[in-house]
Amino acid sequence: RAKERGRGRWELHEPAETDPTVDRLRALGELRRGIRDGALRVHYQPQIDLRTGTASGVEALVRWQHPTRGLLPPSEFITMAEESGLVRPLGAWVLNETLKQAAALRQDPRNARLEFAVNLSARQLNDPELVDTVKGALQLWTLDPALLQLEITETALMSDPAAALESLTALKNLGVGLAVDDFGTGYSSLTYLKKFPINELKIDRSFITGLGSDSGDAAIVGSCIDLAHAVGIRAVAEGVETSGQEQALRAMGCDLAQGFLFARPLPAPLLEEWLQANLGGRPVSA
Ligand code: C2E
Ligand code: MG
Ligand code: MG
Ligand code: MG
Repeated sequence: RAKERGRGRWELHEPAETDPTVDRLRALGELRRGIRDGALRVHYQPQIDLRTGTASGVEALVRWQHPTRGLLPPSEFITMAEESGLVRPLGAWVLNETLKQAAALRQDPRNARLEFAVNLSARQLNDPELVDTVKGALQLWTLDPALLQLEITETALMSDPAAALESLTALKNLGVGLAVDDFGTGYSSLTYLKKFPINELKIDRSFITGLGSDSGDAAIVGSCIDLAHAVGIRAVAEGVETSGQEQALRAMGCDLAQGFLFARPLPAPLLEEWLQANLGGRPVSA
């Protein structure tokens, strides 16, 4: 920068530490080492069956225990992981860790039919090794494939529909379930509901927020639930925070719900406690 303003001048310039490229490279190096050295964590958020009030499954949500910045949510590193390709080793780690945890939880026969949901990014869908990775983890931890649910956003599905269809078909043939995540926020092209072998639709939190106050949101959520049922798949509501929302969802026939009302994403030991404490289910209010 000083150079542009002429030679022979002394000028203060920004230290290299604040150069965005250098920052990015450093962050990437930290993440790569973090994945390698065991700095990732998985938290699990229960999913409630609205008919019984009990947990039908849990969603695995990754965190990064950063050496100086504390426990980071995915919004702080997933985009970088996707852009760099690190999301493939990251995703494989999350899958393995989750199925390992699933095996531990199944020691208690009351958790025998608990489902485990894992998020996949677009970059993983295009990975020719994805199907082998999933198959290997299922075999290693002897999980019934029907108990694994893979979540893919609409945007990821549409970024390369041909590759997505191929991966999803192969995954379906393994016997795993496939969910469309953040439904309603992406291209919302309904053709993929017919085209892709999906068994679950997760209605985005942004539509759940207005339940009980915004009649537009109620209409949208109701339509999504009906749409799911019309094509023979189940509907899940994300981000349920109030009992009013829970009641509205039950009245509309929504199958499953997830949100802070029931539980935040929990580290494994707290999940185990929560499952123990909630075996009897929640009181179902009308
Ligand atoms: P998602 O899959 O849609 O996950 C739901 C997000 O909503 C989670 O955020 C969860 O903590 C949050 N949430 C759940 N209930 C409530 C609620 O009642 N209120 C509010 N305000 N938020 C709620 P989180 O854990 O920060 O994850 C964000 C996103 O990062 C996920 O969205 C998913 O797209 C992505 N992600 C998380 N883990 C992984 C992973 O292992 N691999 C990949 N590729 N993506 C992941
Ligand atoms: Mg998800
Ligand atoms: Mg299933
Ligand atoms: Mg979502």
